[in-house]
Amino acid sequence: MTRVANIDSLLRQLRLGQLSDELPILFEAARSQKHSYERFLASVLTAELTGRESRALVRRMRAARLPIKARLETFDFAFQPSVSERLIRELAGGTYLETATNVILLGPPGVGKTHLACALAVEAIESGRTARFCTLRTLISDLAGLGRREVKTLRAYLKPDLLIIDEIGYTQLNADHANSLFELVTARYERGSIILTSNLSFNDWGQLLGDDVLASAMLDRLLHHAEVITINGRSYRMRNHIENESSITARGGSI
Ligand code: ADP
Ligand code: MG
Repeated sequence: MTRVANIDSLLRQLRLGQLSDELPILFEAARSQKHSYERFLASVLTAELTGRESRALVRRMRAARLPIKARLETFDFAFQPSVSERLIRELAGGTYLETATNVILLGPPGVGKTHLACALAVEAIESGRTARFCTLRTLISDLAGLGRREVKTLRAYLKPDLLIIDEIGYTQLNADHANSLFELVTARYERGSIILTSNLSFNDWGQLLGDDVLASAMLDRLLHHAEVITINGRSYRMRNHIENESSITARGGSI
């Protein structure tokens, strides 16, 4: 007993405190299965490594600030045939992150843009990468008042392997906002992927940014290495209403 207490204290000093809970099971397995010293040590080290990895995963997931717990498994591709399941599964593999390729999800509200963006972020995080979600609105308020140089030092948006900028199109940008966004896109260009969602077509970006030249320079960088996915299906949020409506119509028609 004394010895176990001593081990606990040693583990704490070595910052391996989390192992304490697992040790009794590992001791028991080693005793009952008569493991060699080497095998026992390996099992302890493996337990520590596994624990570290799963705690790091939780940390990365939290740091990403995803607004919804979306997964690719829960995306109904049959409901949204304009989305290529093959392409999304390929993106889930993560190669696009290695080449700093962007993913642009375009479409009206409710078609699953945020869901897909978050689900791809989860895949990236589970494969050991870092991600950060923001809407254009929150991004702009974080960037507001920062100079050109300061934008380039915004680690929260520059460091993650994947940056999601959601809901481009709902917030009208003034000249400062537009310039800050341009600086951010430029800073990530060919360095880190951006997943961007918008209800606007690219033609409307000039108006959104209040500057056609800036908009085309930004699109130039965004689209240089990019997968553009245009979703032109029905809103998933409205699916029940639409089904109800059509059943009402059908009933109405049969009277
Ligand atoms: P958007 O960002 O395009 O407005 P969301 O991704 O927010 O749409 O989708 C709205 C809601 O519907 C979310 O709860 C999302 O999980 C769900 N959803 C959208 N499309 C699908 C789909 N094809 N399969 C399953 N759930 C979906
Ligand atoms: Mg959305």
